[in-house]
Amino acid sequence: MKNCKIHKNDKVMIMVGREKGKIGKVLKLFPKTNRVLVEGANKVKRHSKGNPYKREAGGIKEQESPVHLSNISVVCDVCTKPTRIGYKVIDTDKKVRFCKKCNEIMIGSAKK
Ligand SMILES: [Zn+2]
Repeated sequence: MKNCKIHKNDKVMIMVGREKGKIGKVLKLFPKTNRVLVEGANKVKRHSKGNPYKREAGGIKEQESPVHLSNISVVCDVCTKPTRIGYKVIDTDKKVRFCKKCNEIMIGSAKK
């Protein structure tokens, strides 16, 4: 994802809309549309007629739908606040993400 600092399994906070302040885990990235699927956020109801051949029951199913990157913010594991992420190089060749609020290295950024 171009210029995207959000990784899968990151904790993010919804910054706008009716779910503002809600925190969830990133389940999936959609690089082409700059959207991410956030666990438990932006749920939409889908009506389903069911499928008797597959033994699926009909009814209303709730499903997460992807949220645009501009509507979310990464939550720092250390200071537990929504923050901006920067990059820095440690040990001369290891690039890591860090929290711009507390300057701590983000967990999960050690792997490339
Ligand atoms: Zn922090």
